[in-house]
Parts: sequence; structure tokens; C-alpha cells
Amino acid sequence: MSNDCLFCKIIAGEIPSNKVYSDDDLYAFHDINPAAPTHILIIPKKHLTYVNSADEGDEALMGKLLLKANQIAADQGLSEDGFRYVINTGRNGGQTVFHLHLHILGGRALGWPPG
Ligand code: 5GP
Ligand code: ZN
Repeated sequence: MSNDCLFCKIIAGEIPSNKVYSDDDLYAFHDINPAAPTHILIIPKKHLTYVNSADEGDEALMGKLLLKANQIAADQGLSEDGFRYVINTGRNGGQTVFHLHLHILGGRALGWPPG
């Protein structure tokens, strides 16, 4: 838990969120400002600032994050038409909340390349 981290506060229940999934390691919730009809964020409960803050000790956690995202995408009905995962990282990556989060975006055709 990082005291001044928005997503740590969401995990702790200090800031409300629209929960999709929770277990000992992961928390998933709807993005407050959705960029697509389905826009879910999945985060580790352990505070990792960036995706590249993870080290070898986080190998199982990172694998679980991706596999759980796959399950959530399927549960949301995104498997057939497709979807996108995004992990914005650092300033040039457009990261605005500095607690690792995987965006799950779906429900419409998404443009490429990103701006
Ligand atoms: P980033 O730009 O860091 O990859 O994405 C941060 C995401 O967090 C944005 O899509 C933004 O809408 C979302 N977000 C920011 N504050 C909150 C909040 O208080 N609650 C929820 N549910 N999402 C948030
Ligand atoms: Zn945090």
C-alpha cells in the first residue's frame, strides 16, 4: 500500500469503485472515464508503480494478471469480436495513475496506431 496512491485507496475501499473482480492478488473495476463500451482496469493489489517495476519475484503475479484479464474479457463477452489490452507506462506512455494497471478495452472497433 502506497499512502498517496489512488489505486491503493481504491483497493482499500477508501475510494469507491465499480468492482468487477477481486481476489488476494488482483482487483478489477470499471474505468471512471470509459474510452470504449467496455473499459475495465485490472491491477495487482501489491503496489507496483510501472509494469517494469516488476521483477522475477513477480513472475506468478504478472502471469495471473494476464490470465485473469483473459477470463474477464471472456466474461464480458469480448472474446468473439476481439478487444485490446493497454499498459501505459511512464510519461511518454501516457500513464497518469502510477500504480500498474492493465486496461481491457472492447465493445467497438478500436483504431490503430494510437495518437
Ligand atoms: P493511465 O492513463 O494511467 O493508463 O490510465 C488511468 C486510468 O484510470 C484512466 O483511464 C482514468 O480514467 C482512470 N481513473 C482515474 N481515476 C479513477 C478513479 O478514481 N476511478 C476509476 N474507476 N478510474 C479512474
Ligand atoms: Zn498503489
